[in-house]
Parts: sequence; structure tokens; C-alpha cells
Amino acid sequence: MASGQIDIETIKAMLGLCDEDLVKPLPIPTKWSKPFWEAALQHKLVLKKCSKCGNIDHPPYMYCTACMADDHEWVEASGKGTLAAYAINIFGVPFPFWADLPYVVALIDLAEGPRMISNIVECDHDRLENGMELEVVFDDVTDEVTLPKWRPVDESRRG
Ligand SMILES: [Zn+2]
Repeated sequence: MASGQIDIETIKAMLGLCDEDLVKPLPIPTKWSKPFWEAALQHKLVLKKCSKCGNIDHPPYMYCTACMADDHEWVEASGKGTLAAYAINIFGVPFPFWADLPYVVALIDLAEGPRMISNIVECDHDRLENGMELEVVFDDVTDEVTLPKWRPVDESRRG
């Protein structure tokens, strides 16, 4: 445990919480996003590409945001991106996330174009820098849900 982190049992005792209070919300796949989450479970990052104009949307919508077509294919992404913006959460988050503090929420510009909201992990917070190169990693949070997250390509930034 990194310094500053509070373990979950301490949080529960301090605040009189029950287990249900500490359940993290998980993605609920929709008809349009289900292939994305199924691929993530297999540790693959896929994106929805319009069959008509080639536009890639993320998050996946029911139609192409560029030309409104609904024909599409799922393509495997490179898993590369750059850090567009970030925030280091140090307090003021819902109870289920207290044990993770401090953690980084970020906007990642994918090599394929779309911008994704996710977490930066395995990174020294003092070495975060907009524009830094990132690569995807997969966090198996449950048996049914895997979250794509991002870490620095440059190993000297990891921590
Ligand atoms: Zn299109």
C-alpha cells in the first residue's frame, strides 16, 4: 500500500459503512457497446469503425457521428495513445474509490483518433505530462468486466 492510502476495512469502520456502500459502479454494456466490453474481457481494445466513411467513434454510438450511417465493423486498436489532460484525485470521490486515492483520471487521445476517458496507472504522479505516450493495459476488475486503462510507454515514468 502506497503511503497516504487507507485500507478498505479502516474506511468501513470509520464511517460505519456496509459492504454495499463500497461496491464500485461497473460499465453496463449496451447494444452498441457490448462488443467493446467483450473484447476488453479478452484483453483487446476494439473501436467501432463506420463501413461507409471510415470514421471511428468512441464511445460507440448507434450510428456514425460523421455521416449517420449505421453500418460498421469493429477494428482492433493499436493500444497506443497520448495523454491529453489529467486530474489527480486526492479526495472528494465516492466511498468505493477512497481506497484507490490518489488516482489519476485522464483524457487519452487514441492513435486512431477518438478521445477516451480512463485511468492512468503504473505511473509516478510527478512524471505525468500532457502529450506523454501511453499504452493500454487491462484491469480485470471482476470475472465479467475488464477495464482498459493506460500506462506510460516510457518506463522511467512508471511508478
Ligand atoms: Zn460514417
